[in-house]
Amino acid sequence: MEFRLSETQRQLVASVRELAQGNFRSRALGWMDGTFPWENIKELAGLGVLGITVPEEYGGLGLPVFETALILEEIAKVCYPTAMAVLGEAGVQTRVIAKYAPEAIRSRILPAVVAGDCILSICMTEPHAGTDVANYRTNAVIKGDRVVVNGVKTLISRAEEAGMFIVFTRIDSKPGREGIGCVLIERGTPGLEVTGTYHTMGGENLHEVQFNDVELPLENLVIREDGFKRLLSAFNTQRCLNPAISLGLAEGAFDETIRYVRDRTIFKKPIGDFQGARWKLADMYKDIEAARGLLYRACWTANPFPDPFLAATAKIFCNEMAIRVTNEGVQLHGGFGFTDEYPVSRLYRGARYGSLGGGASETLRDLIGRKLAGEDLGPDGIMALGYF
Ligand SMILES: Cc1cc2nc3c(=O)[nH]c(=O)nc-3n(C[C@H](O)[C@H](O)[C@H](O)COP(=O)(O)OP(=O)(O)OC[C@H]3O[C@@H](n4cnc5c(N)ncnc54)[C@H](O)[C@@H]3O)c2cc1C
Repeated sequence: MEFRLSETQRQLVASVRELAQGNFRSRALGWMDGTFPWENIKELAGLGVLGITVPEEYGGLGLPVFETALILEEIAKVCYPTAMAVLGEAGVQTRVIAKYAPEAIRSRILPAVVAGDCILSICMTEPHAGTDVANYRTNAVIKGDRVVVNGVKTLISRAEEAGMFIVFTRIDSKPGREGIGCVLIERGTPGLEVTGTYHTMGGENLHEVQFNDVELPLENLVIREDGFKRLLSAFNTQRCLNPAISLGLAEGAFDETIRYVRDRTIFKKPIGDFQGARWKLADMYKDIEAARGLLYRACWTANPFPDPFLAATAKIFCNEMAIRVTNEGVQLHGGFGFTDEYPVSRLYRGARYGSLGGGASETLRDLIGRKLAGEDLGPDGIMALGYF
């Protein structure tokens, strides 16, 4: 077994780390009010890494899940909103466009993603259908060579900035999971409106998006059949990328905490000299190392999609580990850890997201538990759950 990154992977990580630990670190607090981190996005585009999952013929790097996870981990060490913005460009949405969109859309949108000129937004969640996707009410009706979309999506990232919306929807009112497909809607299409904003504890804003008689050419209906299965296949990838952000947040909090306990003196000695503090550091370190091993192994199975059970296991562990580690980081910073003066408070808030999106921990435990209990989950296990 080989536990080292390749030379190419090390170079990729080093270039992103230099940018993140320099510019991103110093700007990080500025994005906490919901401002989109355009400056960082442009600098990442300059490095060429924004198109990390975009196929090479469209100007991207065409790299697999593992390299994408490595980049997200580096960025999340210092800036959760930027990591989330990059997840938007490197996650499910890019894959949907690269694999299913007509050539005219692919050749226009993907190079713009690589250049940091086109932000993508994925619209799945509805006010009454988050985990329970089979309950979608958004509907796309086919009318000759056109398709007309009506519905509401909520908790949507990047809706204010997006040039393209990847919208999962019911097709022709067909019920259940089988009725789910996907349409592409460009910003500026009549009937598409961003109607509400939620500011989150992680810093970024989420939005409500409405579709009122949005009329599109039929070719924008990019997934007509097996939409749910394709969504979940892509989501197995997301289940390696979301935890990469959790891992980075925990590592960032750990680094900050190590610095702090060495510098801060109480009772005439550094905090790190107290056994109670050292035990906390040891547990944080142990947690991070275990999480990294699980996540990298899950990423390593991706061809192109990772093993669903390893990805689910890695996601649960990394998400919950990040909450524990960032929490202990705040604790060891004392009252200053609760202020904006120290990055650890931002990292702690960001860590709370992981287990909510991309498959809640409870649903993923269901998936793993059913397999362990001997249930036949089908050839790939992907369709075992009626939700994600
Ligand atoms: C920062 C952030 C960014 C987001 N970005 C996007 C985006 O860009 N696009 C988008 O479409 N959505 C986005 N979402 C929404 C996200 O995908 C949903 O919040 C998620 O799918 C869960 O849906 P819900 O919030 O409706 O929770 P619900 O489905 O109502 O679930 C609530 C809770 O119930 C529990 N639960 C659910 N199912 C089960 C079960 N089977 N067994 C036991 N317990 C269960 C879990 O604890 C779960 O967290 C984002 C959310 C956040 C926080």
